[in-house]
Formats: sequence, C-alpha cells, structure tokens
Amino acid sequence: MNTLPLFESLKGAEVTRKKGVTVLGATGSIGMSALNVIAMHPSRYKIVALTGNTQVERLFDQCQRFMPEWAVMLDPDAAQQLRDRLRTVGLPIEVLSGTGGLNQVASLTQADIVVAAIVGAAGLLPTLMAVRAGKRVLLANKEPLVMSGRLFMQEAQRAGSELLPIDSEHNAIFQCSPGLYKVGFDRTGVRKILLTCSGGPFRNTPLAQLAGVTPDQACAHPNWVMGRKISVDSATLMNKGLELIEACWLFDATPEQIQIVIHPQSVIHSMVEYIDGSVLAQLSNPDMRTPIAHALAWPERIESGVNSLDLFAIGRLEFAPPDLVRFPCLQLAYEAARLGGTAPAVLNAANEIAVQAFLDRRITFLAIPEVIETTLSAASISQDMQLAAILTEDTRARETAIDCVARLERNHRSVGL
Ligand code: NAD
Ligand code: MG
Repeated sequence: MNTLPLFESLKGAEVTRKKGVTVLGATGSIGMSALNVIAMHPSRYKIVALTGNTQVERLFDQCQRFMPEWAVMLDPDAAQQLRDRLRTVGLPIEVLSGTGGLNQVASLTQADIVVAAIVGAAGLLPTLMAVRAGKRVLLANKEPLVMSGRLFMQEAQRAGSELLPIDSEHNAIFQCSPGLYKVGFDRTGVRKILLTCSGGPFRNTPLAQLAGVTPDQACAHPNWVMGRKISVDSATLMNKGLELIEACWLFDATPEQIQIVIHPQSVIHSMVEYIDGSVLAQLSNPDMRTPIAHALAWPERIESGVNSLDLFAIGRLEFAPPDLVRFPCLQLAYEAARLGGTAPAVLNAANEIAVQAFLDRRITFLAIPEVIETTLSAASISQDMQLAAILTEDTRARETAIDCVARLERNHRSVGL
C-alpha cells in the first residue's frame, strides 16, 4: 500500500511550490469550471496563461481575477481590444493572438498543467504542443484524440506527458481502472468498459418530431450545461461515438471491449468490469468540477465545490441499450472506429461542419448524420497517422461536408422548406 507518500504530500501541500496552470479555452464551459476549482485553491495553483476565441469581456474579467502572465485571443481584433482594456487598468499581461499565440502558451515552461478545453479540431495543435512539452494535460477537448489517436498517445508517451481525462466518463473509467494508458487493459484483468450515456434530450422524442427540432431544443440537455457543439453532439449521440474512440486510445481498448449503456440519470459516469465479475463504478452529481478537481490534484484529492450525492433524492438508477436506428451518428462512429486510420478524423470533420450548419439553421437535425455518412463514404481512408496526413484528410472532409450541406440546403429551398 502506498498511503504514506500520499499522506506526507497532503501534509506538505501548504509548503510545496504552486503549480502553474494554463487554461486553453478559458472562456468556455469547461474553462470556467476549471477556473472555478482553481480559485478554491490559491495556495496550490497559479494561472500562467488563459486563452479564448472572441469573448473579450469574459477573458478581461478572468485576467483581472487570475492575473496570468499571458492571455491569447484567437481573433487578432479581439486581442487588440483586450490589450487596450488591460492597459487602461494597468495590468501588465502579454496579449498574443492567432494559432501561433495558442501554440506558444500551450508549452510555456512556467506551466506544469495545461487544461485542454478548446472545442473541436482547433484544439489539436495547441494540445499536441502541451503534450510534446511534457505537461500534465487535463483533456476535455476530445476531438484531437479522436483525430490523431495513435500519434497523440505516442507523443504523450515519448514526452512523459501525463494525459489525464476530464471528460466525465473517461475520468470515471480512469478512477475505476487499475492504470491508465501505460498499462494496457487486457493485462490487468479488465473484461470490459461500460461507457454510460444519458441518451440526451431526444431519448424518448417521437421519431416523427426529430426532423423539426430546433438548435435550442437540441442544446437543452436534461443533466448537463455545456457548450453548444457538444450539446448537439449529445443530442445526436455523436458525443458517445467520439467518446468511444477516445476511450479506445486512452485505455488501449478495442471498440468491442466497450459497451455503451444508456443511463438517463447521469449519476454513474462509467464503469469497469473485471474478469472476476466485479464491476467498479464512479458516481457523482453531474458537475464537471468533480473530474477537473480529480485530475488537477491526482493522485491527491481536493475540494471541487460539488455537493454530496443525495442517493435518496435520486431514488433509482436505470440502464438500457442504445438505439442505433434512432441515433445513426453512433453507428457511423462505430464504423469509423473499425475502419481506423484517418476515418475518425473524417468523421470528426464532417460532424463539426454538420453541427455548425444545424446550429446556423441551414440543415435539419436529421441531416447531420446524412452529411457525415456522405463525407465518410466519399473519403479515401488512409492508415497513415502522420500529422500532415491527418490535417489533409480533415481539410478534404470539411470540403466534402460543406458541399453536402449546400446541396441539402438547395434541396430544402426547392421543396419550400
Ligand atoms: P465551449 O464552446 O463552451 O468553449 C469552447 C472554448 O474554446 C471557448 O473558450 C472558446 O473561446 C474556445 N474556442 C472556440 N473556437 C476556438 C478556436 N477556433 N480556436 C481557439 N479557441 C477556440 O465548449 P465546452 O463545452 O467548454 O467544451 C470544450 C471541449 O470540452 C469540447 O471538446 C467538448 O467536447 C469537451 N467536453 C466538454 C464538456 C462540458 O461539460 N462542457 C464535457 C466533456 C467534454
Ligand atoms: Mg463526456
């Protein structure tokens, strides 16, 4: 048993050096939850850099509160506005912009921990930079791992980067598993992973109504408050498909070793079954501050601000198999996982285009899987997992998906929709 070093480090927490933290995507849902936890532990953590896309006021407020050395706005105009705002209040924070700025702050020597909370493929390069710099990377941004799985894991291993999942399911699997990616599941008595899924807002919606659902209805998740892209992914169940691929890479598992379980209460965040028949589960209120706090302090435990779980109020936990007919995106993700190579990158790119088109009210909810299926079947899947090949396939898939969206839009207009 290894309890003594843990006890010693808890005792010594006040005197150890503060850990530097960079939050990529600080202005988003995960970024704000991470800052919320970090603010509870000023003696442990110090913010080194914060990044956002266009939300100047929010990043300005965060800069005033956390006093980072660097701030990055992807958008150059937004960066200039932030610079001006910070100058007026006399804060000496260096403001950078563009992907160069993101990549630069992802690998600063002052940061021990990088929270990867940008949404979508835009997070791939900065997250890889953090991994290559050997940081502890708290991974929320699942799309980079889906796109570049093997490369990403190899780079993490080579650089000695601790890749800790804060996607709630993967964090739960990590908490219930004998070890992370370094060990390999089948060598540690694991029979399978049970990846739980709430079923999203349309679990019981009559199929005939799905064609007419709006972006706001799709984003009204029953249990979680999240950014709009992942909310739509949760409504189509593509989120679970991306998470299946994410889990395969993180835990060295095959798609067949992962069973998706619909669990509408979102209290069990995933489970691990062992060959002796034991099933370990991690339970908590559906609040991302729990996995964030876990990964920030691991192997220690710190307060997250999340309330105790009230099992009597919850009363019952239900489980059901997923419905692949209702949710074709999940089926498409299984296919991409089985194809391997650049197929998950194509799946992800087409999904990003389709979801944005749905959020912009250009296509219907049911057209999302149509765009992805068309793009996947048009792609020539390569087993080359070099970064250049992945980025090329990502660009090609986006072009195909954009054409497909335009065609669907024209068809809809021509039938008067
Ligand atoms: P969000 O939309 O709330 O925030 C996204 C962040 O990324 C913002 O800070 C935004 O400014 C930034 N951003 C957007 N586009 C960018 C670009 N092109 N370049 C640089 N920065 C950009 O999203 P979120 O819900 O916080 O999700 C972030 C990631 O975490 C996603 O990959 C999501 O799948 C994953 N995740 C989220 C949750 C959740 O509860 N929200 C749970 C698990 C995993
Ligand atoms: Mg999740």
